[in-house]
Amino acid sequence: MIHTPSSPEPPASAWTTAATVTPAAPPLEGDRRADVVVVGAGFTGLSAALHLAERGADVVVLDSAEPGWGGSGRNGGQVIPGLKDDPDDLERKFGPETGRRMWEISGGAADFVFELIARHKISCEAQQCGWISAAPNASAVAVLRARVDQWQRRGAPVEILDRQRVADRTGTTLYVGGLLDRRAGVVQPLAYVRGLARATREAGAAIHGCSPVTGIESRGGAWRAATPAGSVTANTLILATNAYTDDLWPGLRRTVIPVQSYQVATHPLPEDIRRRVLPGGQPVSDVRRILYYFRLDPEGRLLMGGRGPLNDTGDPALFARLEAVAARFFPQIGAPRWEHRWSGRVAITTDHLPHLHEPRPGVLIGLGYNGRGVAMATRMGKLLADRVLGASHAELGWPVMPIAPIPLHAWRLPVMSLVVRWKRFQDWLDARRSA
Ligand SMILES: Cc1cc2nc3c(=O)[nH]c(=O)nc-3n(C[C@H](O)[C@H](O)[C@H](O)COP(=O)(O)OP(=O)(O)OC[C@H]3O[C@@H](n4cnc5c(N)ncnc54)[C@H](O)[C@@H]3O)c2cc1C
Repeated sequence: MIHTPSSPEPPASAWTTAATVTPAAPPLEGDRRADVVVVGAGFTGLSAALHLAERGADVVVLDSAEPGWGGSGRNGGQVIPGLKDDPDDLERKFGPETGRRMWEISGGAADFVFELIARHKISCEAQQCGWISAAPNASAVAVLRARVDQWQRRGAPVEILDRQRVADRTGTTLYVGGLLDRRAGVVQPLAYVRGLARATREAGAAIHGCSPVTGIESRGGAWRAATPAGSVTANTLILATNAYTDDLWPGLRRTVIPVQSYQVATHPLPEDIRRRVLPGGQPVSDVRRILYYFRLDPEGRLLMGGRGPLNDTGDPALFARLEAVAARFFPQIGAPRWEHRWSGRVAITTDHLPHLHEPRPGVLIGLGYNGRGVAMATRMGKLLADRVLGASHAELGWPVMPIAPIPLHAWRLPVMSLVVRWKRFQDWLDARRSA
C-alpha cells in the first residue's frame, strides 16, 4: 500500500482561509541523482532538507501531495516543548547522559522553532506567548506539580497556576489548576510549513509535490526512490512520513498507530467575547487521558480539538460533539456559527517517544510525535540532518532505535477503540470524583 491522497491540497480548515503562499513544487519528471532524497514534505522532511541544504548538500524532497498536506499543514499550531516523559523519567529510562540530552533537545524544541522562524523570516503569526497544560482534577494537578518541579530544577521557565489563574487566563472555569510553560507558543501551521518549504528551496533543495514514492531499492551502495514519472538516486534516504507512513519500508507502518484528531473552528468571535475567551492568548491542552486542546487563531476564531475514532469516518456527529464541548467550556460564546471542521492523523508510539531509526547504512527515519510534532518534528529534522552530516549516534543525543513493529497491529482498530473507551471511562470517573 502506497500513500496516495485523493487531493494534493490540504483539507479546507481555519488555516487555508488565510492567504499563505503555496510553494511551487512541480512533480518530479525524469531520473536524477542527489546527495540526499527525503520522502515527506512536512516539518520533519523540510527541516532535514533545509539544514542539509544550508550545509551544501544536494537534496531532493518528494511528497505524494503538496508540501504541508499532512499533519504539518492542519494541526492546532501549538508549539509545545518536552515529551510525555518528564526529565527524571528520561534519565531513569535512558541513563543520566542520554536522558539529559533527550530532555535538553525536546525541552529546547520550541525555542528551536521560534529561532528558525525568525532566522528565515517565515511569516506565520508566530508568538512565543507560553502554553497552558490544564488539569481537570486534583490528581492531575499533582502530576503537573511534579513536572513543574523537575523543569524548574533544570532552569526552565515553567510554573504552576492555581484554579483562579487558569480561569483568568483561559476564560473557562472547568479546570482546577494548570502548568504555564513560557518556552511554548503558537504558529499558523500551514503558513509555517509553507514558509519552511520556501526557505528550503531558497537554500538550494528541490521540492516535488504530487510525486508519491512507489518503491525504494538499494543500488550499488546508493538508494533509489521511484515515483510514477521519475526517480532520485542518492547516497542517503530519509523517510519523514509520520502518521501517513505506508509500506515503503518493511515494518515501519506497524511501528506507529495512526489516530485521527479532529478540530472545529468558530467564525471570528466579536471583540467583546474575544476579551473573555483565552484572554491570556496562550493555547491550552488538557491532561485528560483523551485530551481536548484549544486556542484562538489570529483572526479570533476559537479552535477546539480532540480525539475521535482511529480512522477518518467523517461522521458529522463527532464534530458536533466537539462543538458542544466548546460551548460547555465557554458559555460566553453563546451559539456561534461554526465555520470549519477538519481532521488529520497523529502517530502514536507505544513508548510515547518520537523514534529515530537507521535500519540500514544510508537510511534514516524520524517519526512518532504523539500529537506533539510542531516543535519536535522540526527538531527531529535537524537531528536527521546532523546524522547525515557525520554526527555519531553518541553525538546525536537521541537514541537510535530498532524498527519494532507493534504486535497485533492489524487489530489496532478494535483494540484501540476499547482502549479509548476505557480511558474515557477513567476520565469520567476522575471528573465525578473531583466534582
Ligand atoms: C488535527 C491535528 C492537530 C494537531 N495539533 C498539534 C499541535 O497543536 N501541536 C503539535 O505539536 N502537534 C500537533 N499535531 C501533530 C503534528 O501535526 C505532527 O506531529 C507533525 O505535523 C508531523 O510532521 P511530519 O513532517 O513528521 O509529518 P507530516 O506533516 O504528516 O508529513 C508526512 C508527509 O509524508 C507524505 N508521504 C507519506 N507517504 C509518502 C510516499 N510514499 N511518498 C511521498 N510522500 C509520502 C505525506 O503526503 C505527508 O505530506 C496535530 C496533528 C493533527 C492531525
